[in-house]
Amino acid sequence: MSASSLVLASGNAGKLREFSHLLAPLGIDLIPQGQLGVSDADETGLTFVENALIKARHAALVTGLPALADDSGIEVDALGGEPGIYSARFASRQQQGQGDVDNNTALLAALENVPEIERTARYWCVLVYLRHAADSVPIIVQASWEGRVLNTPDGEGGFGYDPLFWLPEQGMSAASLDAATKNRLSHRGRAMQQLLDALSERREYA
Ligand code: IMP
Repeated sequence: MSASSLVLASGNAGKLREFSHLLAPLGIDLIPQGQLGVSDADETGLTFVENALIKARHAALVTGLPALADDSGIEVDALGGEPGIYSARFASRQQQGQGDVDNNTALLAALENVPEIERTARYWCVLVYLRHAADSVPIIVQASWEGRVLNTPDGEGGFGYDPLFWLPEQGMSAASLDAATKNRLSHRGRAMQQLLDALSERREYA
């Protein structure tokens, strides 16, 4: 543990990979909460912001460290914005299994006869940074990333819904982007840029 240790309030390996790249230039020692014995918090909020705050506060409380939480998901227009905050739990909420592969299968089934033009969607990412569990001025940032849901998975990279997330401007799925390009364009990468700006304004990790 160092003076610049930060606990990541997530056990998601895909998120950890992306945050490790994004925070590398700052010399921050990012520690996934599982390594510090922190279990997953119950995500009882109805918004990404509430859930990110719940997760960050829980990790900061248990570890005594500053905490970073990400609550993110995919909002699909043809499904009235679903799965949204329930993206990680989409398949399990419909008793169709659990995990990324089952979530993608459930999303394809839900969109079965929906034509390409109506398959618009966006990822959202909300990040919360807390200096400590009782921090009354959390840094909260958010960003989105527009795309379209494919009919069949494409690409091997990324995680979660990336094989189904088509980027018209790039002409490929998010799972086909190299990691650096995804970090530059994505909801998470751009939210992180805002967070880094806010941290530097506060002269934290300067
Ligand atoms: P959370 O861990 O509760 O925030 O759930 C986030 C879920 O949203 C993940 O499990 C993925 O299903 C989805 N998600 C968020 N960001 C991404 C991304 O960058 N690529 C693919 N799926 C994502």
